[in-house]
Amino acid sequence: MGEMITIEEDGTLCVPDNPTIPFIEGDGIGIDIWPAARSVFDTAASKYGYQIEWIEVLAGEKAYNETGSWLPIDTLTAFEKYLVGIKGPIATPVGGGYRSLNVVIRQALDLYVCLRPLIWFKGVPSPMKEPYLVDIVVFRENTEDIYAGLEVEACTPHSKKMIELLQDTFGWEIRSDSGIGIKPVSKFRSQRLQRAALNYAVEHNRKRVHWVHKGNIMKFTEGAFRNWGYEVVREEFADVAIAWHDCNGDAQGKILVQDAIADIALQQVLTRPADFDVIATTNLNGDYISDALAAQVGGIGIAPGANINYSTGRGVFEAIHGTAPKYAGLDKVNPSSLILSGALMFDYLGWTEAANAINKAIEASINDGIVTYDLARLTAANVTKVKCSEFAAAVASRI
Ligand code: NAP
Repeated sequence: MGEMITIEEDGTLCVPDNPTIPFIEGDGIGIDIWPAARSVFDTAASKYGYQIEWIEVLAGEKAYNETGSWLPIDTLTAFEKYLVGIKGPIATPVGGGYRSLNVVIRQALDLYVCLRPLIWFKGVPSPMKEPYLVDIVVFRENTEDIYAGLEVEACTPHSKKMIELLQDTFGWEIRSDSGIGIKPVSKFRSQRLQRAALNYAVEHNRKRVHWVHKGNIMKFTEGAFRNWGYEVVREEFADVAIAWHDCNGDAQGKILVQDAIADIALQQVLTRPADFDVIATTNLNGDYISDALAAQVGGIGIAPGANINYSTGRGVFEAIHGTAPKYAGLDKVNPSSLILSGALMFDYLGWTEAANAINKAIEASINDGIVTYDLARLTAANVTKVKCSEFAAAVASRI
């Protein structure tokens, strides 16, 4: 029998050696990648003296077929209760004004950090000349910005009303055929993200943190995000971190915190990736930057992700790609994104050695030329193209 992960008042996770962890298998290729990834998790856990009791919870098509609901309340309750869970990709039902189930899960559990570590594994085909310079962790704000869904459609009574309100209240001239979106960026939600990024930098011995923003144009949202970030550094992290302009770039052993405007940051992560370490940014910027960086290190088949609330301890770890339905059940696709998300989950649980063992085993497998179709087609090197399950077996055997 598994035991529950709990959290203490100071935010410390209490993780038993035999935790119960809920999982969503996922739609489409979930049927292939989940069993593959799970075999790697169980191998790594058992090597380091742990045993996970997995409990399946439903979402997406499997949930709909079995319960008539795309996201049964029991699933959210399980993630609430057990704190930490993992999921494969979920199809977003088309039509009927459906919202993404992934977004619903993130919002229902207030998982305010979208965490994306981007690191290159030796042997992975990359469009970069020096992909090994990429070792960047992105903290993307997950709950507000223009993703809040506060939009009115053009040429509707709602947009007419909004345009009139803005004209009457602020004197703003907006074309009558405009759609309008609202971009809320709050101090509370910005600073909890920035705090999480700084804590991560401290715990993982990172040297630099960048606030990436577009504050030169959007002063009271993106610019405020930047300013609130420096406020957190000065008021809460002065013993371990320092702002660039408070030390002229010489951090003297502390974490150096600086900011970069999003457009130049997108160039610099390409041209000078080694200058970046931890990035914290607003929701839309984070979307672009994390996918651009994923491309630099081998694409979505190999990049992991997590959605975390560090205050409640809740975290849902996930493959960042979708359900790739045309490959479902073919035992073909790359399970690395889900496997690496599991390694990220182990790291979050404090199982650092087991996490590192998984990362190293993935790298060793790829470096030995054992790859799934997606990486095989990107390389001219002589590789052995294997199935999804065979790749997982290769990884497990190297742990
Ligand atoms: P997708 O499922 O990510 O697939 C797009 C393409 O990416 C695939 O055709 C394949 O490329 C490649 N790919 C994806 N996963 C791969 C893997 N594990 N190994 C190797 N290659 C992989 O994106 P989509 O077709 O736009 O979305 C399909 C469904 O997934 C939609 O319902 C969408 O809403 C959902 N979705 C869910 C999530 C999530 O649950 N987090 C995220 C994104 C999308 P090739 O065809 O070139 O081989």
